[in-house]
Amino acid sequence: MTELEELRKRIEEITIEMLSLLKTRTEIAHDIGKIKNQQGMSISNESREDELRELIKKQCHEIDFNSNTALKFLNFLLNESVKVQSSESNNHLAIFLKAKELEEQGKKIIHLEVGEPDFQPPINVKKSLSEVYDKGFGKYGPAKGLPEFRKKLAEFASKNFDAKVNLENVMVTPGARFGVFLAISTLLDPSDEIIVIEPAWPAYRQCAINSGIKVRSIKTTLENEWEPNVNEISSCINNNTKMIVLNYPNNPTGKILPKELQDQIVKIAKKHDLYILSDEIYSNYSNVEWHSILSYNYEKSIITQSFSKSHSMTGYRIGYLISSQKIIERLTKLQTLCLTNVSEPIQYAAMKSLEDDVTNNVKIMNDRLTKLQEICKNMELEFVRPDGAMYIFARTKNPINTSELSEDLLNNGVAIAPGIGFGDYNEFFRISACLDVKRLIEGMDILKTRL
Ligand code: PMP
Repeated sequence: MTELEELRKRIEEITIEMLSLLKTRTEIAHDIGKIKNQQGMSISNESREDELRELIKKQCHEIDFNSNTALKFLNFLLNESVKVQSSESNNHLAIFLKAKELEEQGKKIIHLEVGEPDFQPPINVKKSLSEVYDKGFGKYGPAKGLPEFRKKLAEFASKNFDAKVNLENVMVTPGARFGVFLAISTLLDPSDEIIVIEPAWPAYRQCAINSGIKVRSIKTTLENEWEPNVNEISSCINNNTKMIVLNYPNNPTGKILPKELQDQIVKIAKKHDLYILSDEIYSNYSNVEWHSILSYNYEKSIITQSFSKSHSMTGYRIGYLISSQKIIERLTKLQTLCLTNVSEPIQYAAMKSLEDDVTNNVKIMNDRLTKLQEICKNMELEFVRPDGAMYIFARTKNPINTSELSEDLLNNGVAIAPGIGFGDYNEFFRISACLDVKRLIEGMDILKTRL
């Protein structure tokens, strides 16, 4: 055997050995998942993961091996455990599917779980859709979106977000969800790390896991008014950390960060050269001072926006991204690959809807939130007054398992979103203000009887 052949043989043996170790590790992860599920524990455990990281670093030092490579490998293994254990967990989506099933059987459900405004889209949407046929919008178009629309969005953003935005900085997407997916899966590589401040909309975590990216959760608490601790953020950053996600006004808490705290987080991101993915789709539902991440003029920021909530156009699937031209070019490649371009008739309708005044919707939502807070206070629920968005994230004085509560409530005609969907918040639940006050009261009355 030549030396090369011998070395190849050895590599083959080691790879096979690693495979069988991986199989055993996966089986153990599976068993751990079962125990966690039985005991109502969350899948991710940051302090346990930190212990493993420290162990790996120590071992690397002892055997003189590159710890960056080892930590990336650990991230791969940790994500595999999360995937295995997720299949064991009671997925909160089960509630929504069950609600649908009950409705199909003719049962009436009051939907306090949905983040979908009940307003009609602006009237210009109706008018513009009747024009698209004659205007000839029916062919393939540019992947970044209609130039005229992108120009209007740039003007809109410059005016409303305290920033200088040009057409080159804008890309139209089929909703903010796809914008989030594009940013995470294009800008990060497998085993990179992304910081998510929880409670959080679940798609950030799901997109990351889908691309083999490791999520580092920063937990926030009601006691600390949902404000993240900047030292915690700083101390979880390492060479593999590439992005931090911000979402203010926040889903589910309605939190808007105080300006000084937001400034500090942006400073940390700049210092460590992290991308900032700022999901700002609730920005027009802000009831206190709010500053877009665009206003920091940081070239590694990506802002997602949408017509879903602001213009009540959830089903039209239209949103946009704002970033540096360089990042937009990179994201365009994946958008071209996935969908060629966003439907032009819908882009035209959204463009025209920018001419409508939607401030009355914002006022209605705020009035409902005020009413909901009054009801929650009377029910002695604990929550932080939302600064914006359209939800209340609450818990009872004596903690209860809200996944069980959600199941029980559903059988009594009310759907709520259990806290487990937003992170390790099993005692919380989210109520949405997307229904008229009469229905909200009706739903909350039923909720009261089930607590
Ligand atoms: N971001 C957040 C924070 C959301 O809550 C939602 C929808 N609930 C989205 C993005 C998705 O928005 P879109 O309909 O534009 O995809």
